[in-house]
Formats: sequence, C-alpha cells, structure tokens
Amino acid sequence: MAAKILDGKKMSEALRLQISERVAALKQQGITPGLAVILVGNDPASEIYVRNKEKGCAETGIFSTTIHMSGETSQQELEDQIQALNADERFHGILVQLPLPAHLDERKALEKILPEKDVDGFHPVNAGQLLNGHPGVVACTPKGALYMIHQTGIDLTGKEAVVVGRSNIVGKPMAMLLLQENCTVTLCHSRTINLAEHTRRADILVAAVGKAGLIRGDMIKPGAVVIDVGINRIDGKVRGDVAFDEAEQVASWITPVPGGVGRMTITMLLQNTLEAAERSVHAE
Ligand code: NDP
Repeated sequence: MAAKILDGKKMSEALRLQISERVAALKQQGITPGLAVILVGNDPASEIYVRNKEKGCAETGIFSTTIHMSGETSQQELEDQIQALNADERFHGILVQLPLPAHLDERKALEKILPEKDVDGFHPVNAGQLLNGHPGVVACTPKGALYMIHQTGIDLTGKEAVVVGRSNIVGKPMAMLLLQENCTVTLCHSRTINLAEHTRRADILVAAVGKAGLIRGDMIKPGAVVIDVGINRIDGKVRGDVAFDEAEQVASWITPVPGGVGRMTITMLLQNTLEAAERSVHAE
C-alpha cells in the first residue's frame, strides 16, 4: 500500500493560522513580534529564501526588515550591524542568511547574535541547551521535521531512529530531538560503512544529505516513517534525498519534496520569532 503523505503545505497553513492568532494576541498587549534578516551580497538562492521569509512574516502579522549589505561588507561591519540589532527592541529575532561570502567568518558572526534573539537556533548556547535537554531555541528544519513526525500519531518511545547527515544545522539537532523523544538514535554520515544496513533498521528515517535519490526503496524498513530533508536541484527540478516513487511503496508515511520539510522550515522560523517575542513579555 502506498505511504500516507505528510503534507508540509497543509500543516504550514494550519500552523500559520495559529501563529497569526498568537501574534494578534501579543499586539493587543502592545508588542509586535519583529524579525530582522541580514542578507550579505547577491546570492540569488538566498534572495529567494529571504523573500519567502518576508512573505511568511507579512502573512502572520510579524514585523520584518531585511538589511541588505554589500558583498564587500567587512567582518567588523557585519558584527556591528548584529550588535545594533541586538540592542534594538523592535526585533525579537535576528537571522543572518547563510551562506555568507567566503571572506566572512560565519561562526564568529552567528556567535554575536544574542542567544535569545537567535531564531535560527545556530548559536552555540542554543545548540548546547538542546544537547543538555534544556529549553532553548531549536533550529527550524529539525524542529519542523519533528513536528511532522508527531503528526503521524506514532508513539516514538523505544523506536529506532536513523538520521543520515550530521551537519550542525540539520543532522545533529535532529538526532538530539529524537533522543529526547526516547528513540534509539543512529547518526550516519559519509564515512558510515554499509549505510543500508543502518537505514533498514529505522522505524523513523531522516535523510539530510544533499544527494538526490540516495535513499532507495530497498534501504527502507517496511512501515517506516520517512522524512526527506534534502533539497537537490536536478535539471531545473527540486528533488529530495529519497527516491520517492520507490520509498512510498514501502514506507507508512513520507514527506514529499517539494511540499514537505522545506515548507515547514520557514513556518518554524515564524514560530521561533513569535516565541522569542512571547518570552520577552515574561522577561519584563
Ligand atoms: P551538509 O552538506 O552540511 O551535510 C551533509 C551531510 O551528509 C554530512 O554530514 C555528510 O557527511 C553526509 N553525507 C554526504 N554524503 C553521504 C553519503 N553518501 N552517505 C551518508 N551521508 C552522507 O548539508 P545540510 O545538513 O546543510 O543539508 C542537507 C540537505 O538538506 C541538503 O540537500 C540541503 O539543501 C537540505 N536542507 C533543507 C532544508 C529545508 O528547509 N528542507 C534546510 C537545510 C538544508 P560528512 O559529515 O561525513 O561529510
């Protein structure tokens, strides 16, 4: 039987409605959640991402500003801009659009964002909170992926979860979130020997690699939940890391690409911005 689809578009629409309501409630208390996005240079893909973020903010009533800095911006100028936004009470969230031009130090820049305004969840303080199982800002993509997994209604306790990809922004935080859900977690990467042996054990399989169709149908346990984070542009089309046509014959639930996890990522950014604004009320 074909797998059921975890529809990121539908889930996002429902969540954005809830976010709009909470934004409206905050506005009644005199607080408008605000997001500042810093975009350095003219990377076309980044410009599209930033536009989608602005649209999401407008749709939910979040105030947003994009600060477009030239591709020649120095590290000091970038960090000064971040510090200015840290001090600006209109913004509860600050996001530096990645990748930065090669001459800039991404890690140093991200560390300048106040952890409570780090709505991408990339600051080491937030990554550390997740590792320690304490509340903090969780990175948008794994947060959205976990939300989708929960929508299956499956009890995660004791399940075998396999995450393929160990980046700081997707794979590692995803593994930590699944561990918090009491899954038994395996984290695979490019040096993993016999990847299929691991993936075939997975009740929950998350692919976050960046290689189109890497996960074939025969690498999936029958009945598994398959979450495809990959975004690969092949001949002008967007494809995931999972060979969808094969996988949907084996899995119980699956996320499509496009229309799956990618949709949820921006929605989680909106949610993180809203939550940062809500926390600022309680901090007063
Ligand atoms: P990275 O390139 O940072 O990490 C890729 C990971 O995949 C690495 O850990 C790498 O291992 C591992 N890997 C590479 N080849 C293999 C292989 N053959 N077998 C097993 N593991 C392998 O990518 P990101 O984590 O940033 O992104 C992953 C994918 O998710 C990309 O397609 C990206 O576009 C997409 N993405 C989607 C988002 C969304 O909103 N849907 C958001 C962010 C990313 P090693 O560490 O050993 O090199």
